[in-house]
Amino acid sequence: MKVSVTQDCIGCGACVAIAPMIFEMDTSTMKSHVKKQPEGAEEEKLAKEAEAACPVNAIKIK
Ligand code: SF4
Repeated sequence: MKVSVTQDCIGCGACVAIAPMIFEMDTSTMKSHVKKQPEGAEEEKLAKEAEAACPVNAIKIK
């Protein structure tokens, strides 16, 4: 699994709330980025939850 955040991010914070070990808000751009790729089933599940919760589909999982 590889997670990324596109420039479509509007900084709503949902992904950071769901999976803070994976996503981090950049305080200068107010956009989320991936600070660490998910490791293990539990983190991959949370990454998918964040993808589903993103209101602008800015989270991409391959
Ligand atoms: S859930 Fe989507 S729009 Fe919200 S901060 Fe995360 S990537 Fe950005």
